[in-house]
Amino acid sequence: MVCAAACSSYDGQLDDDARLVVTVARTAASLGARILTRVRALGLRGDGATAEDTLTGERLDIRARAVINATGVGAGSLDDAIRVRPSRGTHIVLDANDLGAPHTALTIPHEGSISRYVFALPQAYGRVIVGLTDEDAPDAVPRVAQPTEREIDFLLTNLNRVVASPIRREQVRGAFAGLRPLVDRGTAPTADISRRHLVTVSGAGFVTVLGGKLTTYRRMAEDAVDLALHTRGLTAPPSRTASLRLVDRRVPVAREPVDEETGLTSAEVEYAVRVEGAMTVEDVLDRRTRIGLVDADRERCRAAVEAIVQRSLADGA
Ligand SMILES: Cc1cc2nc3c(=O)[nH]c(=O)nc-3n(C[C@H](O)[C@H](O)[C@H](O)COP(=O)(O)OP(=O)(O)OC[C@H]3O[C@@H](n4cnc5c(N)ncnc54)[C@H](O)[C@@H]3O)c2cc1C
Repeated sequence: MVCAAACSSYDGQLDDDARLVVTVARTAASLGARILTRVRALGLRGDGATAEDTLTGERLDIRARAVINATGVGAGSLDDAIRVRPSRGTHIVLDANDLGAPHTALTIPHEGSISRYVFALPQAYGRVIVGLTDEDAPDAVPRVAQPTEREIDFLLTNLNRVVASPIRREQVRGAFAGLRPLVDRGTAPTADISRRHLVTVSGAGFVTVLGGKLTTYRRMAEDAVDLALHTRGLTAPPSRTASLRLVDRRVPVAREPVDEETGLTSAEVEYAVRVEGAMTVEDVLDRRTRIGLVDADRERCRAAVEAIVQRSLADGA
């Protein structure tokens, strides 16, 4: 018997993970935190860190009452006792029009699995992303993870099982990958590794937090801070994270687009620089807006975005 069914759900409401991270940092800054970007930790202690300003090469010696290592797949390079098992997750980017400009997500179960699925998720700028793979990535951690052709083929094959007009390889406008920082628990495959987070104290007295999910970031942070306070003999008021609101992240979009195809406006670029701390054209294209997911969009928008970035930086100087 063949069954067909559909339901509405309210899962997956987070529309932009990079902007969530920036907004969390801005919220922390509004509460007194000092945020240093482009600074790499070289070594950690219970009471501080050595770090490098990657823009100037300057070495920094930072003193602190407590230190938390939250460096994802980089965690093992700062704490020898930590075993990370990176798992690559790849998405492909399609034109929404090629899928009939959907307003809802499509969830396609993997054949032979009761827990895994491929999804097609509508995005900004007239795109749909289709994900996601879960591949062991045991080699040296790259600066930017790269999707493989095999993964792209896997995603297309699963998508094409359910859409009326199959998507061809040449219709794939872009592809991107990330590395999940999973805790190595000696099991296989990576898709079956628990996503529960680990918080632990290193021999040097700092805390490491690893694994988990973006969805559980507040719980991960609360557990890590609680352990750091306990380890360092510090006291603090009860955590407010369960009810703390993030600062507003609404982007003004009232002006003419600087790019007709994506609808990117100069206001979005100015907002990225003036409010969200973007310093370069890459910050805007890849880490504030998601224009850079499609190479052709990136190249078409680059000159206009560069000019607005330079003007906004000069105005703010
Ligand atoms: C493709 C993919 C899809 C995912 N989908 C979901 C999802 O749908 N839902 C969900 O809840 N979770 C999802 N996750 C998981 C989620 O993204 C991660 O669990 C989460 O990002 C882990 O957060 P983190 O801060 O511990 O590590 P990361 O997000 O990896 O952040 C670590 C940061 O530390 C920085 N860093 C590394 N080394 C150093 C150093 N030496 N000095 C200074 N900084 C350093 C890195 O640049 C990075 O910015 C997904 C992950 C991937 C890869």
